[in-house]
Amino acid sequence: MGPSDSKIAAHYNASGVREIRLMNSSTANPALPQLIDSFGRVHNNLRVSVTDRCNIRCFYCMPADNVEFMPKHELLSFEEIERVVRIGTTLGIDRVRLTGGEPLVRRDLPKLVEQLVKIPGIVDIGLTTNGVLLGEQAQQLRDAGLKRLNISLDALDPEVFKKVTRRDSYDKVIEGIQAARDAGFSPIKLNAVSVKGLTEDQIIPFADLARETDTEVRFIEFMPLDADSKWQRDKVLLASEIIERLETAFGTLVPVKSTNPNAPANNYEFADGRGRIGMIASVSQPFCSTCNRFRLTAEGKLRNCLFSMEETDVRGLLRGNGSDADIAAAMLASIAAKKSGHQINSADFIQPDRPMYSIGG
Ligand code: SAM
Ligand code: SF4
Repeated sequence: MGPSDSKIAAHYNASGVREIRLMNSSTANPALPQLIDSFGRVHNNLRVSVTDRCNIRCFYCMPADNVEFMPKHELLSFEEIERVVRIGTTLGIDRVRLTGGEPLVRRDLPKLVEQLVKIPGIVDIGLTTNGVLLGEQAQQLRDAGLKRLNISLDALDPEVFKKVTRRDSYDKVIEGIQAARDAGFSPIKLNAVSVKGLTEDQIIPFADLARETDTEVRFIEFMPLDADSKWQRDKVLLASEIIERLETAFGTLVPVKSTNPNAPANNYEFADGRGRIGMIASVSQPFCSTCNRFRLTAEGKLRNCLFSMEETDVRGLLRGNGSDADIAAAMLASIAAKKSGHQINSADFIQPDRPMYSIGG
């Protein structure tokens, strides 16, 4: 029997201690082990960064210039990513989101999607993109089996877009959104980071878009993960402030009860029933207590939180003859060490060294 015939399984022994075992088809325990942290949170959602490179330069994420990217040989290959995900499924991972950097700058990304959709146990693969290259790739991604796409667009005004991204790619993003629609992605989901003094006047146009087209818009509070470490609390356009503006324009927003207890967004419907809008209030209303996500960086480090100060290496195991059981143990160790939540709102908060583009948002 070869390693591919074996499965990793973790279970609790009679003393309540988690044990990891390599099982073959004759010993396999049908009970699926789970990545549960010391606060009881079950992790089934892995965010996989495929690159730290990007074709734009959002100020809240990347430096304006002279970015030092990871050497390509340090990035996990598609086969390595596939192996980590496959091992993750034996521990309860059933959802994967591809991200970056900009995932569409990684060559042949649809091939990775094709590889991941085939993994038994994976029920959902999503992708977060800035949309610049979607015009070229939306159909291929759809054909590869991608069902869910989030497009990040912070402004509907090209000038504001340019201020945020420090690039002139607005038209390409709009073209990309249309290509995504044409390829059958529906509804189109847009994520907009909201920044005080910069994007307030975009709120109503985004709401109009959500009300007039098949588009779900989610506003995200600006988090301290920018490469320049210039985040300031007073730059965060709070979800409550956005709601206030929307209610002034459109009347009372009606909260929509989520069917997913782990969803980071609070969704609202407009009083007249036209359109829906979401708030990801990571700063003002942290949702850490229901977090089910962990992350694999492009160079193969597991991170149990965006704001984590520690990482667990898996590339060394992947490239150094580590067994599936070793990699599963690394995942379990990473989750076991997860803290209760981020400390953005505490006086001794320290911004992590790695900015968003290098972690994988
Ligand atoms: N490049 C892709 C994109 O922009 O969609 C994927 C990676 S990006 C890091 C993932 C998400 O993180 C995007 O929606 C982006 O707007 C968001 N993001 C980046 N930096 C952020 C910050 N400091 N605060 C809040 N959201 C941030
Ligand atoms: Fe690139 Fe996405 Fe970061 Fe913007 S948020 S700089 S698009 S990785």
